[in-house]
Amino acid sequence: MLRLEMLSRDGDVIPLFYSQHTSQLLDQQGFRAVDMSDDALLERGATPSRPFVAVDYDQPGRKVREVKKLKIQLGLGCNYSCAYCLQAQQVGNAAASSTRDASEFLENIDGWIAEPEGMEKVELWGGEPLLYWKKIEILVPALKRKFPNAKFSIITNGSLFTREIIDQLKGWDFSVAMSHDGPGQGGRGDDPFEDPHKFVMIQYAQRTFHPRFSFNAVLTPRSHDVNAIIDWFRDYFPGCNVGFEGVVHSYASDPSSIFSMEQLGTFSEALSRQLVDGSALRSLQMHDKLRRAVRSMVNEQSSDVLFQKCGMDMPEYLAVDLKGNVTTCQNVGAIGSHKIGHVSDFDNIALNTSRHWSKRPECQSCPVLQLCQGACMYQGGDNWRHSCNAEFFYNLAFFRAALFILTGRWMVGFGGDIVRPTLKKDRNVEVC
Ligand code: SF4
Ligand code: SF4
Repeated sequence: MLRLEMLSRDGDVIPLFYSQHTSQLLDQQGFRAVDMSDDALLERGATPSRPFVAVDYDQPGRKVREVKKLKIQLGLGCNYSCAYCLQAQQVGNAAASSTRDASEFLENIDGWIAEPEGMEKVELWGGEPLLYWKKIEILVPALKRKFPNAKFSIITNGSLFTREIIDQLKGWDFSVAMSHDGPGQGGRGDDPFEDPHKFVMIQYAQRTFHPRFSFNAVLTPRSHDVNAIIDWFRDYFPGCNVGFEGVVHSYASDPSSIFSMEQLGTFSEALSRQLVDGSALRSLQMHDKLRRAVRSMVNEQSSDVLFQKCGMDMPEYLAVDLKGNVTTCQNVGAIGSHKIGHVSDFDNIALNTSRHWSKRPECQSCPVLQLCQGACMYQGGDNWRHSCNAEFFYNLAFFRAALFILTGRWMVGFGGDIVRPTLKKDRNVEVC
């Protein structure tokens, strides 16, 4: 078990012991450190019981026809070029498609999806998905009929909204998220808030879809003060939903996506305090993530049920383009290694591009495994190591806050048999 050093209000430090695989929190005598009879019971609930699939390059994951979440990749083109965009690396790998492909996609869908009434979610993805509006107009009415129980959603950069598009998406009962980094947007790329015409449309969209509209920010080296980001958006839109897509991952070792270790330490500590004092909980995503952290300890959740956080290793989550190519996830193109199969040959789809967390010694030994679930499953090398470092400190904030909620003590240190990644190119920035 890992040893956690826990500081009380009186200033004494006692150890607690935690297992990332059983989520047990024990005191020195080996008894549960969380009183299961108190209000923490409110957090109890059924834990998922299905074991993960240990996907690896030589142990491909499979997909099932009973798809629960369908991510439709419309094209990776975008009218913006954000600094750290992971999709930018993939644009050349996207298979071009047309409105005719959208029609054929619909004609063929009965051939590969079983139990359409069991579909829970349909997501439309770009690039910038509104660049592909004509395809959307073809697809959505038929998909709505096909999947009557599914929720539909789209993530956009918000720069291509028109009144007609907004009204139509509203008529189709979409929830909408707009990617924007708030005060950090300037470091990311173009800012539609600065264009008066675009801003008016963003106002209209926010008003039209609220509460099913959120501004989604990525936490980056340039902008990672959660409260400052929430305040920035709420200055424009009082009471709006501010979501967070988490910490930026490094896909091209771009400096805009790599935190220094000093930044990560300060960020983690500050976010812990914002979670505990409740100010960060103004964001629903922050609130939900903290609840999950508390719940995993109260329910003593086994790591056996942990798929990757994005879920794209799950057999019933499928990313597909309009040519029917199945890809690792919605962020990659089908030309090249990330094509993992085709819907016309469904039984031979093989997720062989990725590595489940259980195959990485760092994740196996990681205190925040229950919250991070392995970062990006297809990343490797130093890009994965940078992403792992960012995820480690981000999730440590929730771990620390959950421990405080459950024990009244503040974690001031931890130790044990923890394997942290070592960057190959710059050994000066090793951690732990
Ligand atoms: S922080 Fe790193 S080691 Fe820990 S679970 Fe996430 S990716 Fe794995
Ligand atoms: S595999 Fe998952 S984490 Fe990685 S880019 Fe795709 S959706 Fe994101």
